[in-house]
Amino acid sequence: MKPTVINRNKHVVSRKQMSPEVLKVLYRLHRTGHLAYLCGGGVRDLLLGRKIDDFDVATDAEPRSLKKVFGNCRLIGRRFRIAHIMFKGGKIIEVSTFRKKGEEEEATDDGNSLLIKRDNTFGSPAEDAFRRDFTINGLYYNVADFSIIDYVDGRADLHARLIRCIGEPNIRFQEDPIRILRGIRLAATLDFQVEESTWEAMKRQCHHIMECPASRIREEIMKTLRRKGSRKGFELLAGGGILEHLLPRLDEFRLACLKNEPTSADPLLQHLGVIDDLRSKGSEFTDSLLLATLTASPVLSSFETLPPDSDVARWLHQYLEENFKPLAIPRVVRTHVHFLLLALRHMLAEKRRKRRRSLRRSPLFTDALKLLEIHCLATNKHWSALHRWQRSPTNRQHRRRKTKGLSPMRDASK
Ligand code: ATP
Ligand code: MG
Repeated sequence: MKPTVINRNKHVVSRKQMSPEVLKVLYRLHRTGHLAYLCGGGVRDLLLGRKIDDFDVATDAEPRSLKKVFGNCRLIGRRFRIAHIMFKGGKIIEVSTFRKKGEEEEATDDGNSLLIKRDNTFGSPAEDAFRRDFTINGLYYNVADFSIIDYVDGRADLHARLIRCIGEPNIRFQEDPIRILRGIRLAATLDFQVEESTWEAMKRQCHHIMECPASRIREEIMKTLRRKGSRKGFELLAGGGILEHLLPRLDEFRLACLKNEPTSADPLLQHLGVIDDLRSKGSEFTDSLLLATLTASPVLSSFETLPPDSDVARWLHQYLEENFKPLAIPRVVRTHVHFLLLALRHMLAEKRRKRRRSLRRSPLFTDALKLLEIHCLATNKHWSALHRWQRSPTNRQHRRRKTKGLSPMRDASK
């Protein structure tokens, strides 16, 4: 199959945007007579003028030859051997040999499983492009003549800002349902639209999502939360009926809110919208804070309905364990989310001065305060609680000393 080749003077990708390490790898492969292509998300992001630091290389050199070409090379992976070329300072460039579409799993009892089991047969550059998920992820940059090679009409979709499956979307999502989450994450981060037949297939095939290992699901969901456009990501997950499979309790809560007050905004999306806003102004968030933000509204609302003598901490522990099960969130992160949500309840409840000092001393206090701020911005309530907790204790000591007529400087020098 003949690809469209876009010559250097017709595209914006420049070697200046690439790291010296990836250029070294590309040039060495080229000099030793191999095809050397930059591929996947790297090419997509360079064409969009985005800054990147994750470069993947594809080549016709097989893993054994890669070992010979690069001294600093480690082969990883059992199913498909990928070469990691190691550089000083810990930089790694991933190099994979062109491969073709994997073999499907034998049919199950209902005779229709398409889940890909083996994905380890070497192929041609064209086959390698067609096994990829979306057209915008199927482009190559060829270091031999600095051209872009396009087998899948990816460039047109980049221009049209569209997420479109390579091949028949229903089949591609059944082969590997994680692609549904990848597509939504890309649409959210890049602010692209999902092409219609791809979107229809996402909705139709999303019940397969739980066939994927929890670790892969977690990685995609966390990437959606960690990057730009997290609100749009969850809007698509909810609108496509995908959230219902991933985080059913969360989805039930937002549906109940919208049913009770159809005109009010979705609390989940409002909280994520605040995260996006703050991130665009330079704020950074830990995974625990992102997950606490995601669950803040349903948890606070459930707290209100718990009987007065309930063991709130225990209830929350069970809720989080159950809610995050499909994502297999590590225990340490769950423990932090638990702490942050209890802290939020405490800070909103006011008056309980006793725990105030111990909460302030906690290493998670900064995150707890940020969670309170996000909650205030999302609900436009509880501002007095925020202001009270934002006041630093040092300022208060300062004021107390002033009223007693003591200079803080003199006091400190004692
Ligand atoms: P990012 O690194 O920004 O998360 P990416 O598209 O580079 O996005 P990677 O996980 O680094 O994502 O994957 C690199 C490339 O491998 C993709 O661009 C795509 O071409 C291909 N790929 C990744 N996952 C799949 C999949 N599940 N099915 C088919 N192709 C995939
Ligand atoms: Mg990548």
